[in-house]
Amino acid sequence: MSSIADKLAAQLGPELVLRDEATLRACRRDAWVVSELDDLEGAPMPLPACVVRPRAVEHVAAVVRACAETGTPLVPSGLRSGVCGGVLASAQSVVLDMSSFANVRGIDSRDLIGSFDAGVRGSDAEARANEQGLTLGHFPQSIAISSVGGWVATRAAGQFSTGYGSIEELLLGVEAVLPDGSLLSSGPIPRAAIGPDMRQLLLGSEGTLGVITGVKLGLRRLPELRRCAAFYVKDMASGFDAQRGILQAGWSPVVLRQYDAREVARLFSPYRRNSDALLLVVHEGPREKVEAEAAAVARQLLGAGCEEAPAAATEHWLKERNKVPTFRSFLESGVIVDTIEVAAPYSHIGALYDAAVKRLGTIPGIWNGSAHSSHAYRSGLNLYFSFAVQPKDKARLRASYHECWSAVMESCLEHQGTIAHHHGIGRVRREWLARELGSAGLATLRALKHSLDPLGIFNPGVLLPDVPG
Ligand SMILES: Cc1cc2nc3c(=O)[nH]c(=O)nc-3n(C[C@H](O)[C@H](O)[C@H](O)COP(=O)(O)OP(=O)(O)OC[C@H]3O[C@@H](n4cnc5c(N)ncnc54)[C@H](O)[C@@H]3O)c2cc1C
Repeated sequence: MSSIADKLAAQLGPELVLRDEATLRACRRDAWVVSELDDLEGAPMPLPACVVRPRAVEHVAAVVRACAETGTPLVPSGLRSGVCGGVLASAQSVVLDMSSFANVRGIDSRDLIGSFDAGVRGSDAEARANEQGLTLGHFPQSIAISSVGGWVATRAAGQFSTGYGSIEELLLGVEAVLPDGSLLSSGPIPRAAIGPDMRQLLLGSEGTLGVITGVKLGLRRLPELRRCAAFYVKDMASGFDAQRGILQAGWSPVVLRQYDAREVARLFSPYRRNSDALLLVVHEGPREKVEAEAAAVARQLLGAGCEEAPAAATEHWLKERNKVPTFRSFLESGVIVDTIEVAAPYSHIGALYDAAVKRLGTIPGIWNGSAHSSHAYRSGLNLYFSFAVQPKDKARLRASYHECWSAVMESCLEHQGTIAHHHGIGRVRREWLARELGSAGLATLRALKHSLDPLGIFNPGVLLPDVPG
């Protein structure tokens, strides 16, 4: 009997079906810090049966059908920058690596629609739009290490989302191979009222409901002007309220980011003032709009008790914003670090911040528990917590990690927050999802999963919590 790898190699050609150990190891997981720790400690590493690099939609459909016929688990993957364990191959699974399915299908500079194969690297998509004086307006910190298909599959948010929207607002059309091998194609449309929106089915599906093969994104013309500003805020709660005032007044700066005093000390030391928080503001667009908005927002913030800080702080962030230390360097010194992004309405966000930081502070070995907000809306905003913990005994790294996650997740659920703003659920948040969705929400998600993927072969272990008992 031939293996799934033999079967796929016979169908697709051996050049698309990789079986060498180096590729299997490299493609088996994403950037989740727990997988990094497993690797560092030499934990048993199940390897997939093969890694398939499709170059056409028909290749994807052939892999999906072969996996369905043989009951083989299929793990869709983009560029594996996910930080929640969304890609973690089990033994004998097939990893569908979309990184070679990466053609720009077209940039329409009249309708402002960019059409991409799902594996196109974010920075390549942006560069192609830039050639025509356009931009995606979507700048996740991982833009150079993530794919446009991955953005849709995880419901990503870029650093300029406050002005330009997150991926769900930019997504005009999507194409995907469903678990039965059929091709779903939706859009591109500016809007439609044709019943439930098929794009929403794939947004945040994390490889559990189909393989996204094509993405159509709304584009923008490159802005005429950018202007930066920064403000000192006496505490996080008053800064949240100041952000609320700006957005509810109808202004739309592209960036509003507010760092707590710990993060100001760590990331903005030249601009630090006492124990103030720091609010960064970026305006972009046509000159007249930017000038009017910058003046009005500054007036409003000063009126709300904020004080002007050097705009150089915001320029510094713009320059340095995509540089991050690796998880591995911390793990090697016995410290586990991670980030957790959540969101809540304005009426609850201050209490959520206080509760989570307080809880993190009680965890033995904690070095840092801090947060900034980076995506603001008229009704609330997100918080992006960072923690670093060094248990006395290295054997407790995983337990300490879980304590930190629990501290933030529990605070979030107690204060009407959502447990994930933009990284998704993956493996790390599964245990808390049921409490946010409620029993009807969870049952609906399970029913959807079962009807599309009755064999349960699409990315098992991700998103959906295990059935208890
Ligand atoms: C340094 C760093 C900074 C980051 N900054 C941001 C940020 O600013 N904003 C943000 O939103 N995220 C950020 N992330 C998280 C990550 O980059 C995003 O989640 C990104 O969208 C993942 O894209 P990817 O191509 O790497 O997907 P992968 O990591 O390969 O996959 C992620 C999930 O999507 C599924 N998937 C991927 N491609 C497909 C497909 N074609 N069809 C079906 N399922 C698919 C996978 O099965 C998996 O469940 C950051 C990560 C890192 C390491």
